[in-house]
Amino acid sequence: MEIANAHVSLSALKHNYAVLKQRAPSSKILVVIKANAYGHGMLQVAEALAELADGFAVARSKEAIALRKAGIDSHILVLEGFFDGAEAQALAKHNVATVIHSEQQLEVVEGLSLVRALDTWIKLDTGMHRLGLLPKQFTSLLPRIRACQNIQSPFKLISHFACADEVEHPLTLQQITAFNGLSKELDVECSLANSAGILLWPEAHAHWNRPGISIYGISPQVDNSGVDFGLIPAMTLQTNLIAVREHPKGESVGYGATWQAERDTRLGVVAMGYGDGYPRSAPNGTPVWLNGRLVPIVGRVSMDMLCVDLGPDCEDEVGDKVILWGPELPVETIAKAVGTIAYELVTKLTSRVRITYTN
Ligand SMILES: *Cc1c(COP(=O)(O)O)cnc(C)c1O
Repeated sequence: MEIANAHVSLSALKHNYAVLKQRAPSSKILVVIKANAYGHGMLQVAEALAELADGFAVARSKEAIALRKAGIDSHILVLEGFFDGAEAQALAKHNVATVIHSEQQLEVVEGLSLVRALDTWIKLDTGMHRLGLLPKQFTSLLPRIRACQNIQSPFKLISHFACADEVEHPLTLQQITAFNGLSKELDVECSLANSAGILLWPEAHAHWNRPGISIYGISPQVDNSGVDFGLIPAMTLQTNLIAVREHPKGESVGYGATWQAERDTRLGVVAMGYGDGYPRSAPNGTPVWLNGRLVPIVGRVSMDMLCVDLGPDCEDEVGDKVILWGPELPVETIAKAVGTIAYELVTKLTSRVRITYTN
């Protein structure tokens, strides 16, 4: 019996890649595999998509270098760029592309002697106000960027959306306008769209798109799920029922005794808890899939276990498979119940949960 594993369908990843390609057929795709491919396993995801994808994006140099060492020879972009000269050297050595988002980073590369010029994406702050050069700053630094021997010519341009998941939000079009205002004079490749940009803002499609969450079959929006866009959830978080118990009306279950049965019933004990990364904040009533139906969590989620109300007439047995999220039960539903986003749930699985793969 395989207790608590996250099963990843590699064919679902390939399907989702094809869906995103279809949405923006003339854009190349950098598949975002930061944070262990959103909890799906960075190397396995990279290997599964290496033939299809035009490249990969990660957040940190360490992630990029691990990919190179594992033999991934695709275009790889580090979205946060380097923090110091040694890191810039390592990126040059491993032929990894970097973002430059600040004048400090520009100063660092200007002072280096590198084995090869860095494949560089200049990051523009068009309204997210997290990283990036503001339009004026970019214009004033442009001569230095162009003159720098350590920056490959031509550089590329990148920016990131703050609110692309909200279709009514005016900031996205403002960001696109600001970006186009700067890029139109330059003959360079550009990238703007994350998953929400690809799925909801065709005007954001550029030479390169950067889907993360949607590759895993998950919606970037909070009120729907991946299937609404034709995506297939790649991960199934599953475990087993380890006990079935008679539970009388009026009795509570678990720490804090936060739930009492309103009728005689049977409770199932499921081998999954916050020690696996399942959120402790999941309230009473959060659904779990078991034997073709959804049953509610009752009582507090504990470290290794959670309890579900199976109903008085249940036929469930110890050992039965339980699905916490997957195609049968979108992770977006759990995220909504918990008051977070699916991104957080999939990236927070702990090392106790083994990830397994099928084609
Ligand atoms: C994480 C990230 C993405 C991917 O975003 P999704 O919403 O997961 O598609 C794209 N670009 C940048 C800069 C990112 O940090």
